[in-house]
Amino acid sequence: MGNRAYNFNAGPAALPLEVLQKAQEELVEFKGIGMSIMEISHRSAEYEQVHNETQQLLKQIFSIPDGYQIQFLQGGASTQFAMIPLNFLKPGKVGSYVLTGAWAEKAIQEAKLFGEVAIAASSQEQKFMKIPDLSDISLHPDSAYLHVTSNETIEGAQFQSYPDTGNVPLIGDMSSDILSRPVDVSKFGMIYAGAQKNLGPSGVTVVIVKEDLLQDLPKTIPTMLRYEIHGKNNSLYNTPPVYSIYMVNLVLKWIQEQGGLAVIEKNNLEKSGLIYSAIDQSGGFYRGPVDKGSRSSMNITFRLQDEELEKKFIKETEQNGFVGLKGHRSVGGLRASTYNAVPYASCKALADFMTDFQKRNG
Ligand SMILES: *Cc1c(COP(=O)(O)O)cnc(C)c1O
Repeated sequence: MGNRAYNFNAGPAALPLEVLQKAQEELVEFKGIGMSIMEISHRSAEYEQVHNETQQLLKQIFSIPDGYQIQFLQGGASTQFAMIPLNFLKPGKVGSYVLTGAWAEKAIQEAKLFGEVAIAASSQEQKFMKIPDLSDISLHPDSAYLHVTSNETIEGAQFQSYPDTGNVPLIGDMSSDILSRPVDVSKFGMIYAGAQKNLGPSGVTVVIVKEDLLQDLPKTIPTMLRYEIHGKNNSLYNTPPVYSIYMVNLVLKWIQEQGGLAVIEKNNLEKSGLIYSAIDQSGGFYRGPVDKGSRSSMNITFRLQDEELEKKFIKETEQNGFVGLKGHRSVGGLRASTYNAVPYASCKALADFMTDFQKRNG
């Protein structure tokens, strides 16, 4: 496959080549049934096997303890921003949030539509370039939950550890770093992620939720927005996004073949390390604005001296087979998204290009 780009897209993002090839192989005729997986009932034995196996694989790979449910929902991570307060933010309670960047801000704005919100910690004054220290966080006494955004995809800052929240359920938006490293899932009441960065294509949102939290939830909210309904029906209350779930299944098997999350984490640190080294060893030619202790292994943000040079950089990368290096329109600059499926060779090629570009323009 000589024509595959060096894909640094932020989302939807690179998928493992082996996964795409397997999907291609099975596209027209899935496992001898004479049809595509997209052409059969979501109640069929063949689809149900894929559905349940995907849950089992995720439970295994992410070491999800008993007592958690895995749900496959639609509407993206953005719909979770509403479902969380709709389900968990009862009258008299407060939704606590850590404000770490653009995605946390969106979650907060959505929660404000439904109830009272408290900012438990914020890095707004640091322009979101540093994850706040949460070691001695004190939560509003009426907190229904504490919400964190484990990796801020746009700014490029990532939590390196998670706070202990006692009886208050910790909820994590892991859309852009789920399965990039091992996580102690038992610390969380709920983890959710839109699939299109690290899990598969867009169209499915994975929710991992502690069963205890699904008791006594409001029954007056729209049926499709109730975790309890999706839980009781094993995410088959209505037609699930079958093809996206099938693709997640293939990605999970690929992760397993790589050796699981310990190996994935090591690979991710090596990959991002190549690019961070090119920044750090450039003597200021490239500037990584994020505090070193909060640097993301998934979204590497950096700047050049001026926007003119940044434009030139983007143009030349595009001419050399690199895709997706422009920073998010809200922050500008440059961003390399190095999710699980981005090969080491792409990161090496980018680091080498950066060094060469500096030689020619420094
Ligand atoms: C991409 C992203 C989202 C939004 O996901 P959608 O599936 O497009 O709604 C939310 N949170 C984070 C951290 C993201 O990276």
